[in-house]
Amino acid sequence: MSVRDRDGVDSLAREPPGIGADSRSMALASGHDLAGPRPRRTRPSHHPADSALHDKALEIHARLCPVYGCPIPYFHSLDPLSELVSSLLSHRTRNADSGRAFKALRARYPDWAAMRDAPVAEIEATIAGVTWPELKAPRIQAVLRAIAEHQGALSLDFLKDLSVEEARAWLEAIPGIGPKTSAAVLSFSLLRMPALPVDSHHHRVAQRTGLIGPKVDVGPSHPILRAQLPADWSAQALYDNHEILMLHGQAICHPRAPACATCLLLDLCPTGQARMGGSGAA
Ligand code: SF4
Repeated sequence: MSVRDRDGVDSLAREPPGIGADSRSMALASGHDLAGPRPRRTRPSHHPADSALHDKALEIHARLCPVYGCPIPYFHSLDPLSELVSSLLSHRTRNADSGRAFKALRARYPDWAAMRDAPVAEIEATIAGVTWPELKAPRIQAVLRAIAEHQGALSLDFLKDLSVEEARAWLEAIPGIGPKTSAAVLSFSLLRMPALPVDSHHHRVAQRTGLIGPKVDVGPSHPILRAQLPADWSAQALYDNHEILMLHGQAICHPRAPACATCLLLDLCPTGQARMGGSGAA
């Protein structure tokens, strides 16, 4: 099984780039641990969370980590502003396409200030391979303008001096940046801060296993799922948690036909048990 399969649509970017959710404003079971230290199974202290759900979240983490190879290598080593641009490009777009668009922007403009000040039609043409380039081009320029205006410079490096909560609040105050994107910037960039992104695959597995309710959308799921994990988990541990749930959603818990019969979470999953019992719930 591939540890990382990011060839499909970027699941961290399922919110449309227009006026979408993101703009509401990105082996315990087998007894072996093949890949380095496991995060401590301490209860969260920063936020109340249902004890049973907390235990289930930890059990899921413990079971999936050996399968997908925790600690999972980071897939990006970008500064936070570049990670933000990358994340905004990737919404609802195959990773290969958003990666090409990101490289095209980098090749065309000497820095993000030059991109911010370029004609929007030129940006749109440069990122034509992504979904909704006509929306993403002006959005990214507007985000860059807002950052420069509020911070006095086109950089997000200052976020390293803030707490995760402060940094996320700062980012999400900018129109066009929602919980997924803010968490992605903090977690995936070289900031390597302990934030938990939730993408659509992660969200689907969390919903089917009952970690979150059936009506909890991706955005509101962020604080709920974060609160189920220990407050003192490292950036790597939270990154791993996101990655293993995302990878499990891609590999096993498919949107339309989850492979429940072979899923090692079946005994923890009411949806899978209902499906295997013939109720057809999904
Ligand atoms: S048992 Fe089925 S529905 Fe539940 S997590 Fe596994 S694949 Fe998904």
